[in-house]
Amino acid sequence: MSRPSEFDLIRDCFASGYPLADDLITGVGDDCSVIRPPFPYDLAQSIDTQVADVHFPASAPAHLIASRALRCAASDLAAMGARPQGFHLALTLPDNDPSWLGDFADGLRRTAAQLGLPLLGGDTTRGTQLVITVAVQGYLPQGQRLERSGAQVGDDIWLSGPVGAAALILPTVLAAPATDNQATAPYYHPSVHLGFGQKLLSLASAAMDISDGLLQDAGHIARASDTGLSFDACSIPTAVSREHPRWSDCLTGGDDYQILFTASPENASAIEAAAMAESLSQCRRVGRVTAESGKVSVWDGAQLLNFQTQGYEHF
Ligand code: ADP
Ligand code: MG
Repeated sequence: MSRPSEFDLIRDCFASGYPLADDLITGVGDDCSVIRPPFPYDLAQSIDTQVADVHFPASAPAHLIASRALRCAASDLAAMGARPQGFHLALTLPDNDPSWLGDFADGLRRTAAQLGLPLLGGDTTRGTQLVITVAVQGYLPQGQRLERSGAQVGDDIWLSGPVGAAALILPTVLAAPATDNQATAPYYHPSVHLGFGQKLLSLASAAMDISDGLLQDAGHIARASDTGLSFDACSIPTAVSREHPRWSDCLTGGDDYQILFTASPENASAIEAAAMAESLSQCRRVGRVTAESGKVSVWDGAQLLNFQTQGYEHF
């Protein structure tokens, strides 16, 4: 196969085959994308960068890299309660290998269709290292959003599903990056709870998606809300049981993309119904918001548990 020019590459890989948006006036091919937001909605936007060999193995199949990059970015929309509108993609590529790019675009198109996210535009550059930046945006009913700062003392803490599967499978992914099966799905194809996030808009007091480990990310809600988060160890849905030697890794390992949220106890049955409607059978109440500002604690009965790390940090 001959090497495509930058413009051939954009046409072949990014100009067609993605979900269409009825609010998109100008898409891939012009200087800007132009959308016409419906009234009365607010626009939620988020951007995420994934660097080869930092966020994923560089030798992983391109379609799996694409799936992971788009899903991790879209997770922020779910955590804010936004309805997906579309995404921009900035790609820095070490070379323009057409078969790699074709595979990447296949994975991107498939994932975009699954998430209902039109591709609005992007940028393509050459660089020494593969870097993928995805900017997602979505709509919120005017005045509504799920911020991290809304937790109230006495609220329940909830988790949309189990944590730990991605962290536990990471050694397998690193050793054999092409493994695409049920075990590696939490890493390459993390579930994005877009429908559930929108339902939580009227039910939750605070929310975020977990990317860097449950306990570390819980600290963000605790600090933003000026409250404490007290977890009941045995209620937390995890990839392995409480007795398993790697149980604590489930609470500190990253890459889960479940939604951690708080809600008034009077919303509990409505939340359970919303979770069932979204097939989130492992959505659980996992603790209680306390007055201990900024503090995250995990209790096993009357015993306070200690963890060596709380989660992943880049610096
Ligand atoms: P400009 O120089 O005006 O920024 P470019 O030549 O970089 O435009 O891009 C041409 C068109 O292709 C633009 O509409 C841009 O949004 C789109 N585009 C470039 N790279 C990508 C990409 N990786 N994914 C989606 N669209 C892209
Ligand atoms: Mg231009």
